[in-house]
Amino acid sequence: MSPATPTSVAPTLNSAAKNVAVIGGGITGLAAAHRLITLHPDIHVTLYEASARFGGIIETASHDGWLLELGPDAFITNKPGGVQLCEEIGFTDQLIPTDNTYRRSLVLRNGRPAPVPDGFMLMAPSNLQAIQDTPILSAAGRRRLLQESEIPPKLNDADESLADFVRRRFGEEALDRLIQPLVGGIYTADPEKLSLQATLPRFPKMERSHGSVIAATLKTQSQKAASRETSGSGARYGLFTTAKDGLGTLISAIVEVLKDSGRVTLRPSTPIASVSPAAQSTWQVALPTGDAELFDGVLMALPTYRVADLLNSQSLQTLANDLRQIPYASSAIVLTGHRLADFSHSLEAFGLVIPHKEGRRILATSFTSRKFPKRAPDGHVLLRTFVGGAMQPEQLNYSDEEISAFVNEELQSILGMKSPPVFSRVVRYNNAMPQYHLGHVELIDHIEQLTAAQPGLELAGNAYRGVGIPDSISSGRQAAERLMATATS
Ligand SMILES: Cc1cc2nc3c(=O)[nH]c(=O)nc-3n(C[C@H](O)[C@H](O)[C@H](O)COP(=O)(O)OP(=O)(O)OC[C@H]3O[C@@H](n4cnc5c(N)ncnc54)[C@H](O)[C@@H]3O)c2cc1C
Repeated sequence: MSPATPTSVAPTLNSAAKNVAVIGGGITGLAAAHRLITLHPDIHVTLYEASARFGGIIETASHDGWLLELGPDAFITNKPGGVQLCEEIGFTDQLIPTDNTYRRSLVLRNGRPAPVPDGFMLMAPSNLQAIQDTPILSAAGRRRLLQESEIPPKLNDADESLADFVRRRFGEEALDRLIQPLVGGIYTADPEKLSLQATLPRFPKMERSHGSVIAATLKTQSQKAASRETSGSGARYGLFTTAKDGLGTLISAIVEVLKDSGRVTLRPSTPIASVSPAAQSTWQVALPTGDAELFDGVLMALPTYRVADLLNSQSLQTLANDLRQIPYASSAIVLTGHRLADFSHSLEAFGLVIPHKEGRRILATSFTSRKFPKRAPDGHVLLRTFVGGAMQPEQLNYSDEEISAFVNEELQSILGMKSPPVFSRVVRYNNAMPQYHLGHVELIDHIEQLTAAQPGLELAGNAYRGVGIPDSISSGRQAAERLMATATS
């Protein structure tokens, strides 16, 4: 949408100072704003957020002893962005690791939950005996998976889909029964389309460097364990961490730091309608009312289809068209609270993933209060069940009541739920999960080239080079660094 004749306001700070707009107040935009003010003493940031609340997908609610993560519930620590930001804002005393009492995952096999083989991380089998013993695969499927170390490596570096890679190296059954549900849970994606280079480049690298994934896993696991024990944030916080009172408190903490700096103007409930290049290397940011402001730089921390809509000037159409090529999937999380005694299953695990082949209406269920303390009152359990994604978009055509009803049916059938939950809440995420399809790496390279040709414009978020919270934070921080390099030169 093009704004009506805008009223432009020139940058108001003195000539040495720089005036920067950040658009989007999710974790990416917040991390970017924080990095900007940390990097340069004379920066002023205006942070525009469409909704009344900061945090975007990250939101925590609580009631009657329940702590509900409505979006993400944890983040990985072996990627630096999350822990780094927490350290910089003094939030690390709020971080907690997973409670290891029930540290294992389940996968559905012929309607019954069974443990994921011990030591199996996404598609890296570190315990070969556990593969030999697993009931998840048939005898032929187990043999085929273990033959991986004898399959010759691919001779070229060409990208391939996750499904093709897994079929080639571990066999069809390992794909269908184990790896599709485990990896699908992270990317809510179709493995036939998912680019391995863009999502899990370490696996083709393992194939190239050691001849097989199993050989690489076995060789490096002891070194990794040793280095985790002696150094690094991974050891200190565990592989996954979260905020003890919910990730919403991380958002509040960043917002407080930004406010206290006196150099960030927070503008919630302010959707931006367009961003366009203006005279003297400035950028014009316009509201739907037609009012506009000029900035020395603009950092857009939004889903790519929204960025494309905002970049409506003629000179930016190639970039906008590229951005529109990144597909997004929708999903819903159904949070349900239960009395523990209402299940015949012990729920002694972190959660359950469901192979597409099982023909169920849910993708996975996380046993949230088994992973982290203080999520449910004593004697109760909090579950988060995932619905939809790229593999089952049709399930989101139902009403919230209908979704709750079929989730209950699945919980009854799979986990032996005997009574309805004490509460149920459906949270929808429309077009919130970018899909890294084959060709993603080349597309992002091109988007970055086009953006680099627009000094003062930067893009960041989970659509580019990593989908999780730490990736989003790093993306925001790096975009802030690039912006400073151009804006202050
Ligand atoms: C259901 C779900 C579960 C997830 N679970 C995990 C997990 O457990 N761990 C993990 O690491 N990651 C998880 N992720 C991924 C993670 O949540 C995201 O990568 C991250 O939160 C993205 O943050 P963002 O700031 O880039 O985007 P968003 O959170 O989408 O923020 C973008 C912001 O821009 C605002 N906006 C939009 N248009 C405009 C406009 N025109 N003007 C101004 N503002 C605008 C929006 O209101 C929003 O606040 C999950 C994602 C989903 C969808």
